[in-house]
Amino acid sequence: MKTHDLRAEQDAFRDECGVVAVFGHPEAANLAYLALHGLQHRGQESAGIVVSDGEQLNQHKAMGLVQGIFTRDVIESLPGHAAIGHTRYSTAGDSAMLNAQPFYVECSKGPLAVAHNGNLTNAIELRDQLEASGSIFQATSDTEVVLHLMARSSEKTLRHALRESLLRLEGAYSLVLLGKDRIIVARDQRGFRPLVYGTLEGPMGTAHVFASETCAFDLIEAKLVGEVEPGEMVTVSADGVSRENFAPPLGRSHCVFEHVYFSRPDSVVFGRSVEETRHEMGKRLAVESPVPADCVVPVPDSGVSAALGYSAESGIPYQPGLIRNHYVGRTFIEPRQEIRSFGVKLKLNPVRYLIEGKRVILVDDSLVRGTTSRKIVQLVRDFGASEVHLRISCPPTMAPCYYGVDTPDRDELIASSKTLEEIREFTGADSLAYLSLEGLQQAVHGDEESHCFACYTGRYPTDLVGIEQLVHDRQKVDRV
Ligand code: AMP
Repeated sequence: MKTHDLRAEQDAFRDECGVVAVFGHPEAANLAYLALHGLQHRGQESAGIVVSDGEQLNQHKAMGLVQGIFTRDVIESLPGHAAIGHTRYSTAGDSAMLNAQPFYVECSKGPLAVAHNGNLTNAIELRDQLEASGSIFQATSDTEVVLHLMARSSEKTLRHALRESLLRLEGAYSLVLLGKDRIIVARDQRGFRPLVYGTLEGPMGTAHVFASETCAFDLIEAKLVGEVEPGEMVTVSADGVSRENFAPPLGRSHCVFEHVYFSRPDSVVFGRSVEETRHEMGKRLAVESPVPADCVVPVPDSGVSAALGYSAESGIPYQPGLIRNHYVGRTFIEPRQEIRSFGVKLKLNPVRYLIEGKRVILVDDSLVRGTTSRKIVQLVRDFGASEVHLRISCPPTMAPCYYGVDTPDRDELIASSKTLEEIREFTGADSLAYLSLEGLQQAVHGDEESHCFACYTGRYPTDLVGIEQLVHDRQKVDRV
């Protein structure tokens, strides 16, 4: 296998995405489109919707932002009362459009579309097995594995074929599936990624909706029913709603990074307000790592809630000393290092009036490679800050994620090889402090029984021998 193939294959393990499903509304595509707007922050690379009118499925997907992809004409070309949608972030290069979701196929079970948020940690193994017995894959994304497993299942119904397939998957998945006359959603047994269920009243009666985050429901005025439980599969058809456990739930491993960074603050994730958690993280950070200063300045937007918490606890005034250009995407979205560095300058500009001559506490949500913080610290200094104290509202990121968050390889994580003092020096800050693991656990109201903290502890809640071994073996083959 060539290096770029391996890269693409590894990249396929790094989907951060948003999913939505709608059943029982004549404007299903429109609702999915609106919901995807609410999930845009979860992925900006591509977006897609597949809709069913009860007989056939129609799809539209493209690279780019939801708003640019779905024009009025496109939405009107997607008639039907059931739909699924997806918005995708990924670093995969050439193959990006191939990997855009939902995936749609015609198979022995009829027309079928699937979209997925998370990472299947045994996808390479499953794919190898399927290819060895004749399956032909079109993309590198692990989601396609689910379709192949279902297509091959001897089970007659979609529900049974999906159930059989899910039992072979390992890792993280919040999955939405569309058949001719039904939607089915499922969540892995540990509940790594969020998935919520809601209803809204429409011309056909009660419509059923599912989405990665509750902020999507607010947009379409859906009422939150609750979470799709870990290990649960929900089928919605003209016969009604059926909820069942496809497997017993295992210990919970809700991704804490959803609260730290990924989800929107107006969402309720894993039953807790994201804003409340972030505010609490900031308060605890102020208690754990106080420093005399004139103002608390967030790195917008992700540092805002924690900075408000820090300010409230410390009594040091909150100042919006950095202004974000909202028309530039998240810096992290750009896959290459040099573009990302450029992005920081495009995105943020200090307010000289608030910063000049001031001792600034700069609050950000996380520090991964350290390159963003380094540039921001420099920017703030360039605009006249007399001191810059960096406060990070989560612990040092030590280990890569295999469950759906795009953290870089371990050797690119600055905290995996440098001490606190070395990181401080790298960022150029006068002082640096992270929130402790205990502080984060208190803020999120969880511990290792309920949440996954693997990016901070290196303790993975599932067995990863498969994925690490396979990637390692392939690298060996590459070098030979
Ligand atoms: P850096 O330390 O340069 O790697 O960048 C860290 C910044 O990127 C943080 O302030 C976050 O706002 C953002 N960030 C951290 N992790 C991720 C992620 N997995 N996906 C997208 N953005 C991220």
